[in-house]
Amino acid sequence: MPRTPEYHAVIIGAGHNGLTAAAYLGAAGLSTLVLERRDIVGGCCVTEEIAPGCRASTTSYIASMLRPEVIRDLELPSHGLSMVPCDPALQVPFPDGQVIPWWADRERVVQELRKISVKDSETFVRVDDQLKKLARYLQPFFLEPPPEVEVDGFQSWWKLLQLGRRFHGITTSEVSQLISFLTGSLGDFLDRHYESEKIKTLFLANNVYGKHGGPYDPGTALGLLFHLLSGGEHELQGFYGHVIGGMGAITQALAAAARKRGVEIRMSAPVSRIDVREGRVRGVVLEDGTEISARVVLSNADPKRTFLGMVDAAELPSDFRDAINGIKMNGPCAKVNLVLAEEPRVTGMPRDAGPAQRSLFTLVPSLEFAERCYDIAKFGEIPEELWVDCVVASNVDDTLAPKGRHIMTCFVQYVPYHLRQGTWDENRELLGDRVIKKIGEYAPNVPGAVVARQVLTPLDLERTYGLTEGNIFHGDLSLEQLFFMRPVPGWSQYRTPVAGLYLCGAGTHPGGGVTGAPGHNAAFQVLRDLHRRRRPGASA
Ligand SMILES: Cc1cc2nc3c(=O)[nH]c(=O)nc-3n(C[C@H](O)[C@H](O)[C@H](O)COP(=O)(O)OP(=O)(O)OC[C@H]3O[C@@H](n4cnc5c(N)ncnc54)[C@H](O)[C@@H]3O)c2cc1C
Repeated sequence: MPRTPEYHAVIIGAGHNGLTAAAYLGAAGLSTLVLERRDIVGGCCVTEEIAPGCRASTTSYIASMLRPEVIRDLELPSHGLSMVPCDPALQVPFPDGQVIPWWADRERVVQELRKISVKDSETFVRVDDQLKKLARYLQPFFLEPPPEVEVDGFQSWWKLLQLGRRFHGITTSEVSQLISFLTGSLGDFLDRHYESEKIKTLFLANNVYGKHGGPYDPGTALGLLFHLLSGGEHELQGFYGHVIGGMGAITQALAAAARKRGVEIRMSAPVSRIDVREGRVRGVVLEDGTEISARVVLSNADPKRTFLGMVDAAELPSDFRDAINGIKMNGPCAKVNLVLAEEPRVTGMPRDAGPAQRSLFTLVPSLEFAERCYDIAKFGEIPEELWVDCVVASNVDDTLAPKGRHIMTCFVQYVPYHLRQGTWDENRELLGDRVIKKIGEYAPNVPGAVVARQVLTPLDLERTYGLTEGNIFHGDLSLEQLFFMRPVPGWSQYRTPVAGLYLCGAGTHPGGGVTGAPGHNAAFQVLRDLHRRRRPGASA
């Protein structure tokens, strides 16, 4: 079989993390090749045509946590990336016809909350300050490998000291707050602080997406902090952005930045096997039999796909394979993308609401509703009453559809990957129907305005986007799968038991979402290991 010349680095997968890693490695002067199984780059950060002339962010749909460092270092705006802040950042229409927006500006949020509960509006200011402060302690951990728990002697003390310095000045009460955020439930936190069910629901509408667990499950409070990490070009805490041209504009910009730094990207090039001999990676073998040699290989595929699908079992310690096997996937969400002949008219939307305000709304009436929805899904049923997060992207971006057509993406929270009865192929349209029915309860003109619809079940997310069991984060974001336990304890620093083989995707620290952080961190780990000390930064 043909064997191509050796690359310094081969990256399996052109998701946004694979591309980020590639761009940094290219900038450091490494000959780098990215191999993508699909015929487009982007993984689950893509814009695709869902009907003639109509394009949508088929999977991820809002950019909130893309690291400002990545945007700057790779000069993404110069490669076409443009984001406009979502304002409101979120909005919940309630069954009684009240529509509550959550504005980007905090003072406007306070005014909005005051209309519902003066006490809660005051609590919000106090709690928001605390949360933002706590989030700032966590922020630096995002762009570096977590400390290793299994190092001995001086090194372990040094690591502990470094960790301790990060928390310099933290008070005892802040430590206990941090612990309760890491371990506590969102529902309990909200019940403790707020009196209005509607205000609690607003917080919910911004949280627990893609995760397992209803709002009263331990560990669900953490999202409150995650969302306050700064994002966007201007490092705003709590940033939410619409990406002009859809989410694919992020990965198109990353691909352009990588190519500018000398990276080669091949599409329709699925890797079938990672070549490992005597404990060291030698390269990869494509499905068509092409062998490609490389000194290091980074996998942007999820940990299960990588180690259970591409590495010979005999090359891995059995306890490592068992740990990988035990990662909780079982994707709990789906997506329905619509082309509409009319813009949705949400009952209760103020008459003077501009297009940006009309561009997003979340259909989840209460915490109890969400909790029930998770309970039903966890037993393998498709809930009749669904939690649906809607974004009418064409309201803020006229590049997506011709005049007279509207693009609405609908993220569906809490469906099972494993159905108790039947298959997803048999139930795909049922899910689509339930989503449209739910939207019709709040925006009655939508069911009659559907021109085209794409339903992506957890099984479709697996088949099309390569996500094991449809898990959008390459592994659930539960506490036992985070930080130094991601992807599995002992292997949180992007390295793996195979010398020269690294993970660089969402299955590693700090986890899923369009952040670029795993790709950035993995690239720097590779460079440290190769003793390439020069920091590959802004310049190509
Ligand atoms: C429906 C949905 C909605 C979401 N909404 C949001 C959102 O609004 N905001 C947000 O921040 N995040 C969101 N996310 C999560 C976010 O998109 C992902 O966590 C993130 O994009 C993962 O990026 P990645 O680069 O690590 O992996 P991926 O994007 O999964 O990329 C991995 C790449 O590897 C390729 N690959 C796999 N195996 C092979 C192989 N054998 N050979 C070659 N290539 C291979 C895949 O085809 C893929 O391109 C959403 C995800 C989904 C699915």
